[in-house]
Formats: sequence, C-alpha cells, structure tokens
Amino acid sequence: MHDVVIRNGLVAAGSGPIRCDVAVAGGRIVALGENIPDGERVIDATGLLVLPGGVDSHCHIEEPAPDGSRSEESFITASTTAFVGGTTTVVSFIPQWKGHGVWERFVDYRARAATGMLDHAFHQIITDPTDAVMQEEVPRIVAEGVRSLKVFLTYDPLHLTDAQYIRVLETARKLGCLVTVHCENYEAIQWRTQRLLAAGRTAPQYHAWSRPPVVEREATQRAIALAELVDQPIQVFHVSCEEAAAEIAAAKARGLKVWGETCPQYVTLTAADMARPDGALFMCSPPPRGGDEHAKIWEMIRRGTLDVITSDHCAFSTSAKTGQDFSTIPNGIPGLAARLPLIFSEGVSKGRISLEQFCALVATNPAKLMGLYPRKGVIAPGSDADIVLWDPKKQVRLTNTMMQHAVDNTPYEGMEVTGWPVATLRRGEVVMQDGVVLAQPGSGQYLARSAYDLVLPRGVTADGFGA
Ligand SMILES: [Zn+2]
Repeated sequence: MHDVVIRNGLVAAGSGPIRCDVAVAGGRIVALGENIPDGERVIDATGLLVLPGGVDSHCHIEEPAPDGSRSEESFITASTTAFVGGTTTVVSFIPQWKGHGVWERFVDYRARAATGMLDHAFHQIITDPTDAVMQEEVPRIVAEGVRSLKVFLTYDPLHLTDAQYIRVLETARKLGCLVTVHCENYEAIQWRTQRLLAAGRTAPQYHAWSRPPVVEREATQRAIALAELVDQPIQVFHVSCEEAAAEIAAAKARGLKVWGETCPQYVTLTAADMARPDGALFMCSPPPRGGDEHAKIWEMIRRGTLDVITSDHCAFSTSAKTGQDFSTIPNGIPGLAARLPLIFSEGVSKGRISLEQFCALVATNPAKLMGLYPRKGVIAPGSDADIVLWDPKKQVRLTNTMMQHAVDNTPYEGMEVTGWPVATLRRGEVVMQDGVVLAQPGSGQYLARSAYDLVLPRGVTADGFGA
C-alpha cells in the first residue's frame, strides 16, 4: 500500500503538465497514473497544481563568523521559511575565514545543517586558496560530497585576485567540481565608493551608484574568459542586468559550459527602493537596477541565457542593516519564502513564462546544475517525493509575518502575488500545511553529491594547449 496518494491535481511532471494521481512510498514517488489505489493518506488536490519542491541553490544560512557569531537565519528558521514558500532543498555556503583552512568549517557546518528540516547540500567558499587548502583539504571535502566551489571577485575580505581565481578553477577542474562566481570588479567598486564618500554621498541609495552594471559586466566577462582559459565549467551567480547576461549568452553561443543565475529581486525591486527611508533593507549585491531592466532580465530568462532563479537568501534584522555609510551596511536580503510566489506570479500568472519553464527555473535546472537531479527537482517515479500543492488562483499580499523567517523585514512587504503554496511535502511527509510547518527539527538530510557530467571540462582550451 502506498504511503500517500495525491489525486485530482494538475501535475507538472518532467514531460509537461498532466492530470493524474501521484503515488508515494518510502519517501519517493513510485507512480504517476490514473486510478491509483488509495494509500494510507489520500490528498485531494482538486483545483491545485502539483509541482516539484523548490530547489534553492543559493542560500546563506547560519554561516559562522570568526568572532563566534553566526548569521541570524538558523537552519531551523530557514527550513520553516523555505517550506512556507514551497522550497524543500537548499544549497548553502560553508565559509572560509581568511588565514584558516576549510575542513574544520565543513565539519562544523555539516553539524549545524543537521539540526534543520531541509534537505541540504553545500558550496565551499574559497577566500584563501593556499597550497594546504587546495591540495589537501578541498579534495577531502569533495570526497564528502561537496561539488561546488564559490568565489567572490569583490567584497573585503572575500575577493580573490585573478591568480587566485585561476587556481580555484584549476583545482575544480582536477576534482570535478562546479565553480560559482560572484562577478563584480573589486577595484572599480573601491574607487567609486571612495569618490562617493568623499562627496558626502553616504546614504543607501549610493550603494547602486558605487557598483553600476559596467562593473558587473566587466567581472562577468573576465570570469568567463579565465574559465575558458582553464577549460572549467562555471555558473555566474545573481545576474542583475542585461549587459552581464549578454556575456553569458556570448559564452554559450561559443559552446562554453557557462550558466547564469538570477534572483527575484532583479525582476521586482529597483535602485529607487534604496532611496526610501528604509532603503538599507533593499541593499544587496549586485544592486537592483532601473525598472526597465526587469523586462530585459525576463527576456534573458526566456532565451535560456539565465538558467536558474534562486533567492540569494541572506537575512539581516533591521537593526543590523546599519552602518556609518552605505559601504558598511551589510549586503543581503531574505527571499527563501518569497521566491516561488514572486516568480510564479510575475512569470506564470502574468504570462511571461510557462508552468514548465517555471518548474525548470526554480527546481529542475538548479537540481541539474548542482548534481542533485533526478533525485531532486522533478516529479517522476524514483525521485524523492518533494512536492508542492499550489493554488494558482490564490491572491496574497506579502507581509513579513507570512515569511516566517528569523528577521523583522522583507523587501517584498506589501507586494501582491497570484499563486501560493498550500502544502509542502518533503520526501513524502507533509511538512507544511496552510502556512503551518509540521516537520521535526533534525529531519533534514545531507545530500552528498557525486561526480556528474555537467562539470566535466570540454577538453578544449582557448589555445589547444590543454590544462
Ligand atoms: Zn549570495
């Protein structure tokens, strides 16, 4: 007998939406079909869509700092907010503190993540690619199932020089990892920031002035060129503007293994939001751009230049979003719960993308890029029963309370969406029903990733010299 049977819904299966039953046993989807016999639990999904659970491959959760503090969103609160928004799997970041190794951080972070309810995998941030780290510790972490390295081309004290970035690319190529890149030009932002501060332009709105699209485009172009030199697949994180996306499109057209990510903030927020009295709450990097950029980002999504939409969830309380000027206010906004509703509403409800494209952008493609597919990201026999029952008609005005995250603000406060998750199943268990989270702390599983084809080098370098 099946554990769960979901009836009467429109199922977004891998091959497209079909009206059928979904049977779950042992935490997995075991059958899609008509007239499947009753299970222990029968869920009536009349009027609802049956979607794959969201896979959010870019979330900052419970990152510890050298002073003993950690980011405000714990794995428990992150799990709650994720389930509320229909997301069941996250890939979050293990930090590297400059001057330190990474193995100790991996062990610590894995224990932290085990306290939550989300299924989880990790990116390893590299800020200090020393011999010991790259030759001894990173291979051990890869053997434990971490298959992506994250680098920053900007931010103090995280940014890498080109030489350090090349070293990370070379190591990733050898070990079979994806490299994910924050693309903005460090020196250019420093120069621009100093000029703005000297002119007394210190308010949050000048955050956007300090890092205009050209600094993102330049770093994107450089990140891609160096990846081409080494012949290493990369994913460009959080693309905010058309001109950076155009660099990815050009790389794809040349056959390079380069993928692009964007986030809801780049199709819903604008630089003008940072000029509000509470402008600090909209500060993230790259910054939201002018309103005319939204349509251009949607076009890049439709063309397949931007492959995935993640939240870049990075939550700070209002009291923490302060500084002596814009350059010292912490960057990042929460978005784990709002991601699916915003993209469904702006995308599917408004006719910009199809339901299939939506599922690809928020679940299937992130799972594929991270080596989690087909266990995650798709409704198909054999896959984990991570399922969202979605009311496509429900109209909701977003409030911070609804997000159920650890902080007192959401940049999406007051936005109207059409389409809302009414229940979330993680491995067949109903972990959220009508906004109430039911999962037990500690029930999330670590997803060790093994080698996957997508991160294989092409075997072709820019000069044919080989790597
Ligand atoms: Zn991030």
